[in-house]
Amino acid sequence: SEQLASVGRLSAGLAHEIGNPIAAILGFEEILLAGGLDDAEQKDFVLRMKRETERIHRILRDLLDFARPATSMHEAGSVDTPGSIEHAVDTARALLGPQKAMRDVEIHLDVAPDLPLVTLSEEHLVQVLLNLILNAADAVAPAAGRIDIRAARTSEGVRVEIEDNGPGVAREVRDRLFEPFTTTKEVGKGTGLGLAVCRGLLEGAGGTITHEDGAVGARFVFTLPVATSTK
Ligand code: ADP
Repeated sequence: SEQLASVGRLSAGLAHEIGNPIAAILGFEEILLAGGLDDAEQKDFVLRMKRETERIHRILRDLLDFARPATSMHEAGSVDTPGSIEHAVDTARALLGPQKAMRDVEIHLDVAPDLPLVTLSEEHLVQVLLNLILNAADAVAPAAGRIDIRAARTSEGVRVEIEDNGPGVAREVRDRLFEPFTTTKEVGKGTGLGLAVCRGLLEGAGGTITHEDGAVGARFVFTLPVATSTK
């Protein structure tokens, strides 16, 4: 019954996230078809339709990322190219640097040297890190935000922590944090797919992701096995 409930929530979330932009597009189409608009107005409506279509596109892509690792990667027996946590952290920081969300957020790094390669590719590692860091940046107070990124070797593999000094995860979403469409953000700001995608990618590579209470705010911890050389 728990699985049915989560399928129900998934469908409701999907209907909502995709239904809203589709309703908007239908509305814009009707206005365009009714005619009587000048060129600039027509262009404006087409641009709005494009934005809504892009939103649907992004949601579907994220959903596939969430579903694919478990189905194709594991069942087909194929594995991701091993990736470096250290490189992925550098790339994620370079991509985030110029973003408005990251202005006034201090990032502290504590990445152990000489970490082994892990079973997730660098591209996917960057995707996981970006999701977690952007969530942390969303949560912290403007101008006083701090995010700690730690990575260390463990007996089973590598453990990475992303901790922030925001208010922590809201009680009402704690139980289903990693399910698709769980979000406390307003429509257009969050789809609730970020953590679900992270889970899909990590579990598909034999890893885990959990949430803990941090010293002040939220702490997300993911682990990955060390990649064994195929040579
Ligand atoms: P989205 O960011 O689109 O809402 P996610 O799956 O990435 O989707 O996150 C789901 C929810 O988890 C967020 O809406 C937020 O309520 C909560 N959350 C995630 N990261 C944090 C964090 N660092 N601090 C507080 N809440 C968080």
